[in-house]
Amino acid sequence: MDFNLTDEQKLIQQTAHEFANTHIEPIAFQIDRENEIPPEILTGLGELGILGLCYPEAYGGSGAGFLAFVLANEQIAKASSGVGMVCSVNNLGMSAIYNRGTEEQKKQWMPACCAGAHMASFAFTEPNTGSDPKMLATAVTRQGDKYILNGCKRFISLADYKGPMIVFAADAEAENPSAFIVDKFCPGYQLDESWDKIGNRGCHAYDVYFKDVELTADQLLGKRGEGFNILLENIAYGKMGMSAEALGHAQEALDLSIKYAREKTNRDKPIARFESMQMRIAAMGIKVEAMRWLTYHLGFQADQKSRRFAVEAAMTKEYMAEALVDVAREAVQAHGSYGVMRDFKVEMIFRDAIICEIIEGTKDLQRRIAAGYLLR
Ligand SMILES: Cc1cc2nc3c(=O)[nH]c(=O)nc-3n(C[C@H](O)[C@H](O)[C@H](O)COP(=O)(O)OP(=O)(O)OC[C@H]3O[C@@H](n4cnc5c(N)ncnc54)[C@H](O)[C@@H]3O)c2cc1C
Repeated sequence: MDFNLTDEQKLIQQTAHEFANTHIEPIAFQIDRENEIPPEILTGLGELGILGLCYPEAYGGSGAGFLAFVLANEQIAKASSGVGMVCSVNNLGMSAIYNRGTEEQKKQWMPACCAGAHMASFAFTEPNTGSDPKMLATAVTRQGDKYILNGCKRFISLADYKGPMIVFAADAEAENPSAFIVDKFCPGYQLDESWDKIGNRGCHAYDVYFKDVELTADQLLGKRGEGFNILLENIAYGKMGMSAEALGHAQEALDLSIKYAREKTNRDKPIARFESMQMRIAAMGIKVEAMRWLTYHLGFQADQKSRRFAVEAAMTKEYMAEALVDVAREAVQAHGSYGVMRDFKVEMIFRDAIICEIIEGTKDLQRRIAAGYLLR
């Protein structure tokens, strides 16, 4: 077992760190308050090759692999959860096209998403289901050589950017749902106002309506009725992105707490001198270390095309989300009342943390996947 990063991976980690420190960290509070990410951040990440790290050059990527993406997204999310989330969701949408798309589909849809000019979305959730594919109400019907899509998807990230959206829809002629690549903003595509959410600010979630959207046969992803398999296989890449995001937040919460404990004094002594503070920082640090190796291992498994990847992704994401909430809560405690003030970044991290437990599937659902594997 070799835990060393390659020179290329170290360079990517360093490049992401420098970009995040120079361009994202200084506007992290602005992104949170204004709920907007300046477009040049995303094109900048595209120009550096960070958005396409997982994919070959033929599709606009840089071919560095999944662990490289994990290393980069950790650094970006450390600066801003909203920007980290954009990278993760875009990567999730692209993973479905890369893993299940035809050569033409990959060439058509992926390069602009790797460049940061377009953003890919992944749309499963609906008003009546976030977890159960049998409950999908969004549906396609066949009309000659076309499909007509109708329905509504809920809480869809990046629905406001141009680019492909992977849409899962019930298909009357197939036993299970099918997946389609919908061109966002095509005729019949409509958005509500974005949801006003607690964290991950800057990365908006929308309700999306499809009204008689016409799809051609070359927009079908995989085969008809394969939608659920495509969902399960690829949502794992979303869990990997969210795990990297959780790691970035947890490391930032730890770093800020160490800095604060050294600087804040009580009776002229730094609060880091209190044993209870030392134990708190130690417990946070131990958790962050465990989070790091679980997440890096998941990136490694994606690179190895491990057959256990989907299960490991569920287990990792479940652990990461809960560990992040623990670390974020302790970081707030370490800061005392300042920890709940908007001027302090740990307050923002605490709000971002709670979302990790829900997005890309709730804790209960990750445990169900883990139990299904362990008790098989
Ligand atoms: C910021 C944000 C961005 C999002 N972006 C996207 C996106 O881009 N695309 C997308 O498709 N979705 C997106 N979502 C939706 C998210 O993935 C779902 O909301 C999530 O999977 C939970 O679904 P739900 O809200 O319908 O909850 P439900 O599935 O109704 O769950 C409610 C509760 O019941 C429990 N529960 C449900 N079913 C079971 C079961 N079978 N066994 C045990 N417990 C169960 C859950 O664990 C949970 O505690 C986003 C959500 C957020 C908050």
